[in-house]
Amino acid sequence: MIVRISQLNLPPEYSPRQLLQAAARALRSNPEALSNLTTVRRSIDARGRSPRITVTADVTFSGTLRRRDRNVREIEPQSPPPPLVRAPHNGPRPLVVGAGPAGLMAALALAESGRKPLLIERGEATGPRAARVTGFWKQGTFDRESNVLYGEGGAGLFSDGKLTSRSKDRPRIRRFFETLVACGASPDILIDAEPHLGSDVLEALVPALRHRIESLGGEVRFGTRFERLEIEDGAVRGAVFAEETFRTDCCVLATGHSARDIYRMLAEQGVPLEQKPFAVGVRLEIPQPRIDTAQWGGPFPALGSASFRLTRREEGDARSCYSFCMCPGGLVIACASSEGLLTTNGMSLSKRDLPFGNAGFLVPVRPDDFPADSVPVLAGIEFQRRMEAAAFAAGGSDYSLPAQRLTEFLAEATPSALPTERSCTRARPAALREVLPEFVADTLTQALPKMLRGLRGVVLDEGLLYAGETRSSSPVRVLRGEDSQSTGLRGLYPCGEGSGYAGGIVSSGLDGLRIAEAILTAG
Ligand SMILES: Cc1cc2nc3c(=O)[nH]c(=O)nc-3n(C[C@H](O)[C@H](O)[C@H](O)COP(=O)(O)OP(=O)(O)OC[C@H]3O[C@@H](n4cnc5c(N)ncnc54)[C@H](O)[C@@H]3O)c2cc1C
Repeated sequence: MIVRISQLNLPPEYSPRQLLQAAARALRSNPEALSNLTTVRRSIDARGRSPRITVTADVTFSGTLRRRDRNVREIEPQSPPPPLVRAPHNGPRPLVVGAGPAGLMAALALAESGRKPLLIERGEATGPRAARVTGFWKQGTFDRESNVLYGEGGAGLFSDGKLTSRSKDRPRIRRFFETLVACGASPDILIDAEPHLGSDVLEALVPALRHRIESLGGEVRFGTRFERLEIEDGAVRGAVFAEETFRTDCCVLATGHSARDIYRMLAEQGVPLEQKPFAVGVRLEIPQPRIDTAQWGGPFPALGSASFRLTRREEGDARSCYSFCMCPGGLVIACASSEGLLTTNGMSLSKRDLPFGNAGFLVPVRPDDFPADSVPVLAGIEFQRRMEAAAFAAGGSDYSLPAQRLTEFLAEATPSALPTERSCTRARPAALREVLPEFVADTLTQALPKMLRGLRGVVLDEGLLYAGETRSSSPVRVLRGEDSQSTGLRGLYPCGEGSGYAGGIVSSGLDGLRIAEAILTAG
């Protein structure tokens, strides 16, 4: 019989032998009665004095289950997934716009089903894009079409590659992760409770994903900016890009939420949009050893670098505040997709072994926080834009990030020189209150010291803030119906983070799969 055992408690650097022994103990048996021991889930339990690993494992067991135990149960052998059906299709080829996680997964699923999608991307392929982005970080040379946010792999290429999500859609998560493993990710992502890839792995993995699409009959074009839709009788009839009109009745729009020109174009073409809540704030960097000590009591090389999540509820005039996209052992980076606008974010490499950890600290924004725009539904974008223009100016107008020591920000003191030890070298001292809306600065001033008490031993004096964190989620939703098409335009499939229905690599990838399935169902 196959048995699933949960809650196996092991030391951080456990060996396969220790795992086998723990499983045998849980079954009250000899290790000899166990075979094919496979880990299906692994998480860090940091509640005790020192961290432990909690494992769920499947094993073939030749003994008898002796007693009722909620951590041990017999399971059915897993049947292999059904073979792929490549149904013939006589209609025009589907167009997928944007090669971020959503567009890549939509294009792959369509190609796997024999639809021969055309995937277009305004930015460059990973290799030349990475070289261009290095130039941006080192010298501030900016390209409006291929940058940290635009290009193959989308916004998540230079990221921590965290693969966490609140989605409970296990089958699609499995399909997405297995695709990533087939393209070069470590199989550990299939079992880790908090899986991550790291930017170095993503740079190898994303081109492999593209090759897979091409090998299945899909076509990928870089440096190709989608401009507008051709519409007839409330339905998509084509798309215009690179002085070409591509005839199609199916357009997956996976352009991310940084492509603000797309929202304006959709509004002009009468596609239904709505405002959506979002959040803005700062990125805080602190020495990673302090985080390891706060979370685990000290460093544990077998576990890598510790992470954290902090939240603070509303209090008086101060709004709620939460940490976002924590990057252990990582880097704070400058991001820009428009000239003269600057935002910040975090990334890390697969080893997560750099000396600082960073996280966004965000404050929710409500539609009544900003004045109406000429296109009212886009007012949130204008709000972000103003913050980004202020950050660009405060950083010296050369794409250096404005930064300030945490204690000086809290005391509203004049910014002094930045610490020489920091992850982002192209940063300049600035008064971050001048970059942030007042309610955001006030909330952060109240909330940050209290939130950081949750990380015992973290020293406020060692904290460095960078501004501003504006692109955590989309301020606009492109409305879609039950059939996943725009509620106002047949054949338009808004997809991924830019549609307002996803946020993060996993939920965007899953949305790409979901949209491809909707297209295949529509016939
Ligand atoms: C620095 C950074 C770190 C991050 N870290 C994480 C993390 O660790 N974990 C996580 O879950 N999420 C992370 N995120 C968020 C994550 O990257 C996004 O949620 C995700 O990439 C959204 O996927 P998407 O495919 O919907 O859109 P995007 O990734 O934004 O991709 C959209 C693509 O469309 C292209 N495009 C736009 N307009 C056009 C056009 N007109 N024509 C053709 N192509 C166009 C863009 O160039 C882009 O490549 C991070 C984001 C950033 C910026």
